[in-house]
Amino acid sequence: MIKIEHLVKNYGANCAVDDISFEIKKGEIVGFLGPNGAGKSTTMNILTGYLSSTSGIVEVAGLNVLDYPLEAKKHIGYLPEQPPLYLDMTVEEYLIFTYNLKGCTLNRTKHLEEICDVVKIRDVYKRLIRNLSKGYRQRVGIAQALIGNPEIIIFDEPTVGLDPKQIIEVRNLLRNLGRDHTVILSTHILQEVQAVCDRIIIINKGKIVADELTENITRAVESNRRFQLKICGPQKEVLNMLRQKPGIVHAELTSARDGDAYTYNIESDVGVDIRKSLFYTLAEKGWPLIGMEALGMSLEEVFVAIVDQAADRSARYERGAQKPPRRARVEHELAKTITEKKKSEESEYSALFDDDDE
Ligand code: ADP
Ligand code: MG
Repeated sequence: MIKIEHLVKNYGANCAVDDISFEIKKGEIVGFLGPNGAGKSTTMNILTGYLSSTSGIVEVAGLNVLDYPLEAKKHIGYLPEQPPLYLDMTVEEYLIFTYNLKGCTLNRTKHLEEICDVVKIRDVYKRLIRNLSKGYRQRVGIAQALIGNPEIIIFDEPTVGLDPKQIIEVRNLLRNLGRDHTVILSTHILQEVQAVCDRIIIINKGKIVADELTENITRAVESNRRFQLKICGPQKEVLNMLRQKPGIVHAELTSARDGDAYTYNIESDVGVDIRKSLFYTLAEKGWPLIGMEALGMSLEEVFVAIVDQAADRSARYERGAQKPPRRARVEHELAKTITEKKKSEESEYSALFDDDDE
């Protein structure tokens, strides 16, 4: 449905998109994820024909966007980062304007009514866009994207500036649209693509650093290796025991307390399920375990790990090293990042601990 090959976009000397390639099949819901300045909007603008590329091929529904801009655009509903709203129009005027602009041939009244129901803007239909809240403006932006019933929906940072309830509404809407559309959601929020998308393409500094099924990213996140423990007992001794216990590679005291229990974060060795033996050890010592919660890895950590290691990885492959399986690669990188982060924090924690004792 969408094919991008060796796409490059330079702004003067600055390379915003640096030789990226990917394909998106009909019916996929794909997240285009990257930090600010990664090149997401530039790519989306090229894909939708709003911006020219420096080089590379972009095809939409088999049509080259450069050669057939109008025909290609008919297949796409686009919500740009800054929705192109005319503040002095009412919602109704604006949607009719867009309808005419797109040369839509569907029954106008019926089509616009349906769209207003989908994005829930009937109650502001006669109002000036200028007077609408950010949330409603965003919905009007989504409405204009849906006019003409395009097969492909592309939303660039659709939830920025919305409140939590509105964010959930937009995500639900995207998921629903994903049932019978091809959807690209561009965002810097990992949870957002996790909540909505089947597949995640991660872009950083104009390059693609990962292209994974969402479940693979999620699996890496939910590893059973990090736990938060609440243990009643002398904190120094408990911490020493945790640090010396075989199978635990890292243990630290956190500042949280729960009654007379202190809270510890631990990380077990790869392939070790530490939970049962930990329970017995604590029972033997007479230190009640009153809480054990899997921490997994924060989504931000996963994101940072993948992005940070990308440069490393490409340098290694350029030297001709053999590529390990992708799954192993991601897990190795995640593990490494956690360990390094912990080490740097460890000294801070022990300082805190020494002061606190007794
Ligand atoms: P994202 O949407 O991922 O935040 P953008 O595609 O907007 O990233 O920007 C990618 C890079 O290109 C950034 O370094 C940005 O500063 C630069 N850039 C974007 N638009 C322009 C422009 N019109 N002129 C010059 N540089 C630009
Ligand atoms: Mg952007």
